[in-house]
Amino acid sequence: MKTTVYWTEDSPRPTDLPISPLPETIDVAVIGSGYTGLHAALALRKAGASVAVLEQRTIGWGASSRNGGMALTGLKEEMPAVCKRYGEALGRAFWEWSLASIDHVERTIAEEDIDCNFERSGHMLLAFKPSHFERFGEEVRWFHDVLGYDDLAIVSRSELRSEIGAQGYYGGLLDFRSAGLHPARYVFGLAQAAARRGALLVEHTSLKALSRTRLGFRLVTSNGEMSAREVLLATNGYTTDVVKPLRQGIFPIGSYIIVTAPLPADLQRELSPRRRMFFDSKHFLNYFRLTPDGRMLFGGRHDLSTSLDLVKSAQKMQARMVEVFPQLAGAPVTHSWSGNLGAALDLMPHAGRVQGVHYAVGYAGHGVAVASLLGKEMGEVLAGRRTSTLFAQINHPRSPLTPYDQLYLPLVSAYFRLLDRIS
Ligand SMILES: Cc1cc2nc3c(=O)[nH]c(=O)nc-3n(C[C@H](O)[C@H](O)[C@H](O)COP(=O)(O)OP(=O)(O)OC[C@H]3O[C@@H](n4cnc5c(N)ncnc54)[C@H](O)[C@@H]3O)c2cc1C
Repeated sequence: MKTTVYWTEDSPRPTDLPISPLPETIDVAVIGSGYTGLHAALALRKAGASVAVLEQRTIGWGASSRNGGMALTGLKEEMPAVCKRYGEALGRAFWEWSLASIDHVERTIAEEDIDCNFERSGHMLLAFKPSHFERFGEEVRWFHDVLGYDDLAIVSRSELRSEIGAQGYYGGLLDFRSAGLHPARYVFGLAQAAARRGALLVEHTSLKALSRTRLGFRLVTSNGEMSAREVLLATNGYTTDVVKPLRQGIFPIGSYIIVTAPLPADLQRELSPRRRMFFDSKHFLNYFRLTPDGRMLFGGRHDLSTSLDLVKSAQKMQARMVEVFPQLAGAPVTHSWSGNLGAALDLMPHAGRVQGVHYAVGYAGHGVAVASLLGKEMGEVLAGRRTSTLFAQINHPRSPLTPYDQLYLPLVSAYFRLLDRIS
C-alpha cells in the first residue's frame, strides 16, 4: 500500500503547466492554489486584472487534489439549522446559492474544456440508526415546505438493494442534484485554464508576512518579496497565523481516505449500481464512492487530528469499509492519504475582509462546489465587479483560543463520539 494520493498518481500535475517566477508587483496576489484560489484567479483575469497565485507546495497540492470528489448540494451545516440561525429568507438564499455552486462547477468544466469525469450521479445520505431514517421523512417535507425543493427521494431499507450492496443501513435519502468528479483532474484543469488566461502560477512560495503600504501590500515569501494592490487568502485548512484574526476563526481537521485496487465490473455493480456519492448520518461519518476506474474510495475521520499515521489509519478505515461492504474483505487497499479540512467555529463558509486582506475559507469538508463559486465571487469582489458575497452578511465568530486546536479537538472528538452513541 502506498501512503500517497491516488488521484494525483492517476492524473499527475501536467508537466506543461506554465510555472512563473515570483513577480515584483501584481494587482492581486492569491495565496493558495486550490479551487478557491484558482476560481478567483479565473474571475480576476476575465475582468482584466493581473494576478499571481502563490502556492507553498505544488499547484493544487492541498485538499483540492485529495478529496472525495463529491460536489454536494447544501452546506456543511444542515439547512434547518442555517434557517433557524439566520432566518428563512437568508437560509433559502444560501440553499439556492449552493445549487448554483454545482451549476457553476458544471459550467466552468464545459467552458474551459476540463476533462474530470463530472457526472450528476446524485448523493445518498445513509441512515446509521432507525431513528435517523425516521427523521428523513420530516426532512423531505421541510425541504418542500420551506425551500421549495423536491429533488429528494426516500429509499426504505427494503428498497436499498437497488442503490447499494450494503446491509447495515436503515434506509437512505437521495438528492439527485449532487455530482461526482475527479478532484485532481478538476484542479489541474482549472490551473491550466487560469494560466491560459494569463494568471501567473508560482510554486514553492509560502507567504510568511504581510504589511500595508501606501498602494497596497508588501508580501514577504519564502522565495523573495513582492508588492500587490490586493491580497486574497485562499488557504482554508492550511491557514496559518500570517493574518491572525483569520486563524482565530478557522481550525484544521484531518480527513483520511483509502482506495482499493480496481474491482471487477460485476462487484462494482453490486456495491453501487448507480455510482452515487454516499455518506452516512453519523457525526464521525464515512463517505464513499466508486472512482471513475472502478475502485472503492472510502473516507472519514478517526478523530479530528491532522497527523495520524497513514498505515494505522488505513487499517482502521479498511476494517470499517469491510463492515459496510463484507464483499470487500479480500480487496487489496492500494493507497492511503489524508488532507486538511478548514472548519469555522460556526461550521459556515466565511468570506470577507480583515485587516484589509480578503479571504474565503471554512468549507468544513463540503467545499468542492462551495469553494468553486465562493472563489469566483471573491475574484469578482477584488475586480470591482460585485460589492460583496452572501457569506459576508453573517457574523464570523473568532476566538484567541482557536489556534490551540491540538488542546481542544480531542475533547470535541470525545463529544462527537458520545453523540454518535446516544443520538
Ligand atoms: C480528504 C478530504 C476529503 C474531502 N472530500 C470532499 C468531498 O467529497 N466533497 C466536498 O465538497 N469537499 C470535500 N473536501 C473538502 C474540499 O476538498 C475543500 O473544501 C476544498 O478543496 C477547499 O479548497 P481551497 O482551495 O479553499 O483549499 P485547498 O485546496 O486546501 O488549498 C489551499 C492551498 O493553500 C496553500 N497554502 C496554505 N498556506 C499557504 C501560504 N502561507 N503560502 C502559500 N500557500 C499556502 C496550501 O498548500 C494549499 O495547497 C474534502 C477534503 C479533504 C481533505
